[in-house]
Amino acid sequence: QHNQTPQPPEPPRQNQNPLTGAPYTPRFYYLLEKRQRLPAWMARQDFLKLMQANQVLVLVGEPGSGKTTQLPQILLDAGYHVQMGQVRAICCVQPTPLATLSASLRICEELEVQVGTFVGHVTRFEDRTSADTLLRFLTDEALFREAMEDPLLERYSVIILDEVHQRTCELDVLMGILKMVMQRRPELKLLLLSSSMEVKKVQAYFEGGAPLLQIPNRTFAVEVFHCQDAEKDYLKAAVRTVAQVHTTEPEGDILLFLPLEDEIDLACQLLRKESVHMMNFGDLQVRALYVGLPIMETQRVFDQTAQMRMTAGKPCRKVVVASAIAETSLAVDGITYVIDAGLVKQRAYNPRTRMEVNVVTPISKSSALQRTTLAGRQRPGKCFRLYPEQASSDWPEKVYPEIMRSNLTTVVLMLKRLGFDDVVHFDFVDPPSPEALMRALETLNFLGCIDDNGNITEVGNQACRLPVDPQIAKMLIEAPQHRCSNEALSIAAMLCSLPVWLRPNDAFRAANEAKARFAHMDGDHLTLLNVFHAYKQQIQDGHDPSRFCAENFISIRAMRHAEVARDHLKRIMESIGLQMISTDFQDKEYYPNIRRCLVSGFFMQIACLESEKRGAYSMLREGQEVMLHPSTSLGHRPEWLVFHELALSSKLFVKTGTQIKPEWLVDIAPRGYFDPQKISEKSSARGKMEKLMARRQGQDG
Ligand code: ADP
Ligand code: MG
Repeated sequence: QHNQTPQPPEPPRQNQNPLTGAPYTPRFYYLLEKRQRLPAWMARQDFLKLMQANQVLVLVGEPGSGKTTQLPQILLDAGYHVQMGQVRAICCVQPTPLATLSASLRICEELEVQVGTFVGHVTRFEDRTSADTLLRFLTDEALFREAMEDPLLERYSVIILDEVHQRTCELDVLMGILKMVMQRRPELKLLLLSSSMEVKKVQAYFEGGAPLLQIPNRTFAVEVFHCQDAEKDYLKAAVRTVAQVHTTEPEGDILLFLPLEDEIDLACQLLRKESVHMMNFGDLQVRALYVGLPIMETQRVFDQTAQMRMTAGKPCRKVVVASAIAETSLAVDGITYVIDAGLVKQRAYNPRTRMEVNVVTPISKSSALQRTTLAGRQRPGKCFRLYPEQASSDWPEKVYPEIMRSNLTTVVLMLKRLGFDDVVHFDFVDPPSPEALMRALETLNFLGCIDDNGNITEVGNQACRLPVDPQIAKMLIEAPQHRCSNEALSIAAMLCSLPVWLRPNDAFRAANEAKARFAHMDGDHLTLLNVFHAYKQQIQDGHDPSRFCAENFISIRAMRHAEVARDHLKRIMESIGLQMISTDFQDKEYYPNIRRCLVSGFFMQIACLESEKRGAYSMLREGQEVMLHPSTSLGHRPEWLVFHELALSSKLFVKTGTQIKPEWLVDIAPRGYFDPQKISEKSSARGKMEKLMARRQGQDG
């Protein structure tokens, strides 16, 4: 890359790449030809005309029509990055880090440039852009953070919000913010992309109604089959159906939708085993696709089966086992068969308990249709639904906006920071429940992020700088006072990472034994710290950490992710003036300090033992019964626990818990938070707290 301002890609006149000076490879022309056949390219003229004439445009096109990868390039070609005599950038916001990365890498490949030069991306813990980057792919969260530094987002000439039909909480709030910004910056253009026609609400939200451009569809008929009866074990049914398609149906790849990451991994394992017995029918290549896989692995879903070898005179077939991300965000080519379990993992929030949990629920009717059409993108296809037809009759028509079922704490803090003081009257596309908003404000007040008048505090400003939940942020901010900055940082990084423990089906015992080697008797947070320390020790001793991880059934991906997150968070902590202090490991306060620090962030997530025999706890203020999750490394059942999250399966479980002392609650939580009257009568904690307070008063007096 030269020092001069990079120019937008011109149609290649000679065979030299104007962005790098290097000659184009044959692959460039191969991809260019493919790109130019995409529906988005065909709609180029209409698109540019409407962009020119309007400040906001909504564009709808089927998955795979080239919205994400082609439209930003078309805007650059047309010179949209130059505005009012200045070179600005074009921003494209994706709802997940996986979609962000995938799009950025794909365009770099199409243009034959290095990531972070002309095109780049920003996710939570990674920034692969430079001052010269003209096309910036961002996660929704990353755009929030940029808005904090640059409220009018003046570095951009065009902002593209992708996948708006998904109505994620963050995209909804960004629409609200951008609506305000556009009033102050009439030259800023906003492009909203959708893979579904359900965008009326979004269109109507903008002044005068945003115009709609629909890219013509090019889909083929899809034949739909339902199961006769409800499948109890949809995973087994799914694997069976894949085998059936592979052995009886003509050529064409398979896309299988399952709701949970674990199930996807398990299905892949089963299918790989199964494929050995089906070699006579051709090779079956198995690929997984969900958020959290390493990017290189997810890119392998795009491998073209046509280029793979023949087996037994039969062409190779690919099966992609995917989460809902494959529904619209990542369109895989060559799919002829879709197998759909009809389920999705969704956020659910209960404002009363303040807890957000993930639940598996039936998909909406519009999602079911969307999944079906994916089988007909290149030729007529088939869709096998693993549920009876009548089962879907009471499913919701469409996706219920996520903002109505989310914990709003982070979003409200961001809005406060951006100067939207009256969040209750913020111009939402669909307003969340007043109760959820009040809960968020109350939580922020307890954490000290906003004061009693609702104004953001110094702690609140610091928390905004840290790209983690406000509770973890609070823990990091308080860490120097508890003399455990380095340890809190490691725990925070581990909590933000992927699941650490691998649970291979065929080595369950060995995996549990390995886990026990790191167990800290005081709790899971400290176990995580042990694992992190052991991992770093391996590296320091010059060993290959991947061997260590494999031997101990630890996910190396999770560890690498935690390392990156830790470095990133450490840099921010230092830049906002938080000191890196540790207690000496030999000091008997080493672990108590860390446990106190956990309480300083998570005092709203305390459980008190109700029945030792059943392992039943009650959530401290709410009184709700919760059980200790079997995955815990705690060998006993402590009377008081601070916990990181709730998981809902057959019961409500607390996950990642660490033993604490009730005195700490009184000392560390805001004054009055644990007044016995505030504690549910159902909880035995009320009596215990009363005694503790009485004892305290005796001491003071
Ligand atoms: P849309 O955003 O409209 O769903 P995309 O721009 O993502 O469409 O995709 C356009 C085409 O490029 C599709 O055929 C898709 O399969 C292909 N494609 C997208 N990303 C990749 C990738 N990382 N590798 C290979 N092909 C890709
Ligand atoms: Mg897209």
